[in-house]
Amino acid sequence: MDEVLDLARVGRRLHLDDHDPGETFGWHKGPAKAALEAEIARLAELQTLLFAERTRSVLVVLQAMDAGGKDGVLREVLTGLNPAGVRVTSFGVPSDEELSHDFLWRVHRHTPAAGEIGVFNRSHYEDVLVVRVKKLAPTAVWRRRYAHIRQFEQLLVDEGTTIVKLFLNVSAEEQRKRFQDRIDSPDERWKFRLGDLDDRKLRPAYLKAYRDALVRTSVPHAPWYVIPGDRKWVRNLTVARILRHTIERLDPQYPKPEPGIEGLIVT
Ligand code: AMP
Ligand code: MG
Repeated sequence: MDEVLDLARVGRRLHLDDHDPGETFGWHKGPAKAALEAEIARLAELQTLLFAERTRSVLVVLQAMDAGGKDGVLREVLTGLNPAGVRVTSFGVPSDEELSHDFLWRVHRHTPAAGEIGVFNRSHYEDVLVVRVKKLAPTAVWRRRYAHIRQFEQLLVDEGTTIVKLFLNVSAEEQRKRFQDRIDSPDERWKFRLGDLDDRKLRPAYLKAYRDALVRTSVPHAPWYVIPGDRKWVRNLTVARILRHTIERLDPQYPKPEPGIEGLIVT
């Protein structure tokens, strides 16, 4: 497989300190932008095939701390795909109704249908991240969720979904800059909440929670990748390459036409 994918992929062990958020993989900005366009064009072709085939689906899970670039990935990488075949679902603070069910209830109904690429902007992983860090559930409750998540994802895989999970890894300093930009810019201020600063103070606890979540749930059929997040152009190209490789390996095909269609002359 692609060397960059190997570097980013989470195996049995993970030291987030070994993953530099400012990594460039030896790329340069100008060529990387051209390479991104080529990757997006190829992704669009593959998506058309996946959509036409309509037997399998892809689920992309996007996780990051605040200002980590989730919206940027949606805007800058997933544009260019046919919106009819892409479904993005954002998961925020659960409603009372959602909280009155098991933690996977609100997630399962948004998993992609055959032919679709589903993207989760935050996901069921919040239930072992923010829930753990902010102590929204007892330890015994979030701890057993890793196993539930693995089983849930195995079910999706068994039923034809390929899962790819991306952690956008942004440094504390880059997050500080992005927060400051948000505060200073009237067009971006809406993205910032005072509560984001509380989460920022909890960064060490979040990193520990991310590390545990990634290690405990990264399996060959649903791997996690750590994406260098400080440089947007590196982030975008890395994400695009991972998605392209993932779908390429599925090798989607146009379905066979109904008998009698080939060679037909429309009069
Ligand atoms: P944003 O992504 O900026 O719109 O923020 C969504 C907020 O919802 C974040 O602060 C998440 O931590 C929070 N959130 C998402 N899922 C959960 C969950 N299961 N339990 C509690 N908070 C959550
Ligand atoms: Mg936010």
